[in-house]
Amino acid sequence: MTEYFTEALVLAKKENGEADATVHLYSEKLGRVIAKAKGLKRIKSKLSAYLEPLNFINIRLVGNGRMQVVDALPSERNNFQEIKISAEKLAKFLTITNFINETVFEFQPDQQLWHTIVYIFKNNLGLEDAYKIILRDLGFDPQFAVCEICQKENPEFFNKENQTFLCKAHSSKEGKKELILIKV
Ligand SMILES: [Zn+2]
Repeated sequence: MTEYFTEALVLAKKENGEADATVHLYSEKLGRVIAKAKGLKRIKSKLSAYLEPLNFINIRLVGNGRMQVVDALPSERNNFQEIKISAEKLAKFLTITNFINETVFEFQPDQQLWHTIVYIFKNNLGLEDAYKIILRDLGFDPQFAVCEICQKENPEFFNKENQTFLCKAHSSKEGKKELILIKV
């Protein structure tokens, strides 16, 4: 078993029964990681609270591929309390963490993307701007993108499903769930 200690942002948490959960993280050292947290009720409820989405934590993990949470504490930049004040902010940041969770591959550490994520939270970036810089780090720079169909520059949408850009006119035929707005 290898042990890892890294700072991470909690992207999502899924309860498995009463005491266990699966946490999705974007970590500085390992990139996106899915880890099991066991015995949350037995150990301490504090750990369970730290593993809620939008928390920045310092986390200890063990495993080889299949990771398990050993323990976690809020990191210095944890700003959960501040985010929680506004429902609007909370919804926005949850949209961003869902996007990262859906789009980023596991176990591909990326210092640039880590710094981008920290920057987005620290500066309370708007959704479109957040999408733009995340896409840039993932190799889909909207700055140089054109609509997949008509080659129009500055396309308004990105399709998460097939990773293509689309202009407003050509976005209407796509499923709404797959599309994200990158330009207003
Ligand atoms: Zn078009």
